Amino acid sequence: MIVVLKHGVTEEKREQLIGWLKKLGLQIHVSQGEYQTVLGLVGDTSRVDMDLVGSLEIVDSVKQVSEPFKCCNRKFHPEDTVVEIGDVKVGGGHFVMIAGPCSVESEEQIVTVAKAVKAAGAQMLRGGAFKPRTSPYDFAGLKAEGLELLRIARKETGLPIVTELMNIMDLELFEDVDVIQIGARNMQNFDLLRELGKLDKPILLKRGLANTLKELLMSAEYIMASGNERVILCERGIRTFSDYTRNTLDLAAVPMLHELSHLPVIVDPSHATGIAKLVPPMALAATAGGADGLIIEVHNDPMHALCDGAQSLRPEEFSALAEKVRAVRKVVTA
Ligand code: PEP
Ligand code: MN
Repeated sequence: MIVVLKHGVTEEKREQLIGWLKKLGLQIHVSQGEYQTVLGLVGDTSRVDMDLVGSLEIVDSVKQVSEPFKCCNRKFHPEDTVVEIGDVKVGGGHFVMIAGPCSVESEEQIVTVAKAVKAAGAQMLRGGAFKPRTSPYDFAGLKAEGLELLRIARKETGLPIVTELMNIMDLELFEDVDVIQIGARNMQNFDLLRELGKLDKPILLKRGLANTLKELLMSAEYIMASGNERVILCERGIRTFSDYTRNTLDLAAVPMLHELSHLPVIVDPSHATGIAKLVPPMALAATAGGADGLIIEVHNDPMHALCDGAQSLRPEEFSALAEKVRAVRKVVTA
């Protein structure tokens, strides 16, 4: 349920109403916009007499929110959420380029790529240290050592680091990671999501291979309902009957998610296509479609990459793409 307050309501009256609603056992999310204050009510709202609340002098309107996702619902928070990672902002008109290798392989590799993507305009560095692999025989990442190498690359470049957490037991190692990525395969690991909700750290939540947008939003809801509102959604392609691409990039997800939710939405054209040649056109299309950012795999030597070389751009290819992305952004924001 949402309660929209009249313009110019005093803080005292607003707090009185919030206090009363809390006594009914509800959680209240306050969204203070420039023109409107919206109270989002979470919990058993059947105890609230809608007519009574609607008749209060300070209340403009009361509406039921029929969707099962509440905290991430745009009705709860009409303005875009801006997630801040140090000086980097994502959402609400702030566009972010995240780039780096699929997995961290060596100090030389990660530092070389970090410097190159920074020079090309990336604002954050990606790199997997814990890798979910389909085959148990494949390279599964350098784990704690990989995180250490990411820290070195961050120190060398100043780029915040984005890296995947697979298991809650490893959380301690991620204490100084700037953004925790939750991969497609863990999107519905609900225990993990609840734990992430207890952190004060941005979470990059990737859409599952075969999950709907509602399911993605419900997963974001798990994190937010546990107290962490710093969630970035990521469309990374879904399973369809596509035969020549790794997945199918669902670009309509971007404007749809923007309509349903106030959270930033970024796009991963690398895992969506699986083919380096297809990454630039899909990255540009995602930018044109209103994405709040891109996460792109870049490797200094894709032929010898330990993971996902076929979809990795070379630094110079990323640099050329980044320039085009900036040009498309100019058109989108004009
Ligand atoms: C990744 O970004 O490294 C990754 C494994 O992606 P996804 O979870 O989308 O497959
Ligand atoms: Mn990858």
